[in-house]
Amino acid sequence: MGSEVWANLLATSLRGESNHSMAQVFRSTRVLTAAGLAPASLVVEGDRIARVAGWDEVAAGAGSSSNLTDFGDAVVLPGLVDSHVHINEPGRTEWEGFETATRAAAAGGVTTLVDMPLNCVPETIDVEALEAKRAAAKGKAWVDWAGWGGVVRGNAKALKPLAGAGIPGFKCFMIHSGIDGFAWVEEADLRLALAELRGTGLPLLAHAEVAGPVEEATAELDRASANWRSYGTYLLSRPDDAELDAIALLIRMAEEFQTPIHIVHLSSAEALPLLAKAKQRGVPISVETCVQYLWFAAEEILDGATEFKCAPPIRSRANREQLWGALESGLIDLVATDHSPCPPELKLREEGLWNRAWGGIASLGLALPVMNTALRQRGFAVDATMARLGAWMGAGPAKLAGLVGRKGELTVGADADFVVFDPEAVWKVSEADLHFRHKLSPYLGAELRGRVRETWLRGERIYYAGEWGAGVWGEAPHGRELVCR
Ligand SMILES: [Zn+2]
Repeated sequence: MGSEVWANLLATSLRGESNHSMAQVFRSTRVLTAAGLAPASLVVEGDRIARVAGWDEVAAGAGSSSNLTDFGDAVVLPGLVDSHVHINEPGRTEWEGFETATRAAAAGGVTTLVDMPLNCVPETIDVEALEAKRAAAKGKAWVDWAGWGGVVRGNAKALKPLAGAGIPGFKCFMIHSGIDGFAWVEEADLRLALAELRGTGLPLLAHAEVAGPVEEATAELDRASANWRSYGTYLLSRPDDAELDAIALLIRMAEEFQTPIHIVHLSSAEALPLLAKAKQRGVPISVETCVQYLWFAAEEILDGATEFKCAPPIRSRANREQLWGALESGLIDLVATDHSPCPPELKLREEGLWNRAWGGIASLGLALPVMNTALRQRGFAVDATMARLGAWMGAGPAKLAGLVGRKGELTVGADADFVVFDPEAVWKVSEADLHFRHKLSPYLGAELRGRVRETWLRGERIYYAGEWGAGVWGEAPHGRELVCR
C-alpha cells in the first residue's frame, strides 16, 4: 500500500473521529425504552446508543451542557421501521423514487424503509437487478433502507445468490401483481422457492390473494353489468375467500418447509382463526396489516374515490374492529403502510372506475400520527399508545427484516434513530404535508392528532418540523443500505 493511500485512510479515520469524539446525550421525561414510556437519557457515541440512563444521571455528571439535547416532555420514540414500501426506483422514478420516498419517511419519523422488489425496473429478482437498485439509491436516501428480493415463477436459482448479496428476505405474489415483469407463483413454484430458502432463515413475504375467487367474482359482476364507479362493486370483486385460500396454502407451505412465511397486508378478518390455529401449533408464520385497513372502512368510501384503491381492499367497519382485536392480542405482528404511489393520471379520478384505476395507496410519512389518533380515539392513554406504536411499527417490522438490536428499539448497541413526537398537536392533512412525489392520498383532509417534531438517524438530525410546520431536512442525505449478513 502506497503512503498516499495510508494518508487518505488516516485522514478519513480522523474525520470520522472528530465528528463523533464527544458523546451526545438526549433526554426527555417521556422516552420509550424497554421500561416503557418514562424519563430517560440516551447516551449516543458515534452512530449508536452507548447507554440508556436515568433522566438526570448523565447530564449532571457530564459537566457541560454543550452535548446535551433536552427535549423537555416531548415523546421520544425509536425511529420507525416500515417494512412494506414501494419506492419504484430505478425504472419508475416518475412514480416515486429514493429521494422523495425517504424524504417523506424522515418527516414521518420513519428511519428505515424496506423496499418491495416490484414496480422498480428491473424487478429485484436477481443480483444484477439488486445492484441496479443499489446504484440508483446512491446519495439519495435520507433514511436507511434495505430491499426485499422477489420470488417469481422461474427464478428459484436466483434466490440463493440474492440471499448471499445481503437482502433480508423475499416477496411473492399469488395473483397478478399489476406488473407483468413480476410473475405470480402457484404451489409448484412456492415449493421450488421454499426448498431454496429453507435453512437460510430469511422469510418469504406473500401477497395473500389467489386469482380464482377474484376472477369468478369479477366475471359475475361484469355479467350483471355492475357499476364499476361504486366502491361496493370493487369490494365484491376481491372476496375474502381470495385471502383465505391463499393463507391456507401459505400456512401449509410454512409448516411443511419449516421456513418463515409472512402474510403482508392482511385485510380479511375471516382469516384470523386460521392464522391463530397455525401460530398455536408453532407454524413459522407472521402477519402484517396496514394503516389503511385500521383507519378507513368500506362504508365511508365514496364512489369513484380511487385514491382508496388497494388490494386486498379496505373492508367493512366490523372487519376493521376484528383487525384491531388481532393486533391487541398479538396475532397480527406488525403494521406497515404498503405505500404504493403512482402518477395521479393512473388513478383515473375523472372516470372513477375501480376496475381500471391503478391500485395502491400513498401515505408515507403519515402512519405515526394516524395510528396515534386511532389509538387515542380507542381510549388508550399516551403511554399505552406509544408502547403499541413502538412494538407494531418499530420492533415488529425490524424483526421481520432481521434488524433486531439495530433498528426499531432504543437499547444499548442499537442505531441512535429516534423520533421526537408531540402526541397532542391537532392538525389537518394538506398537500403541503405530503412529501412523497405525487400529492394524492386518501388521507388528505384527515384531522389528526400528533405531529413529528424531529427525526434523528444514527445520531444526526435529519428532519426538523420548523416553525409553522414547514419542514427542514438535513444538509444532505446520509441514509445507508442495511445489508444483512
Ligand atoms: Zn405492496
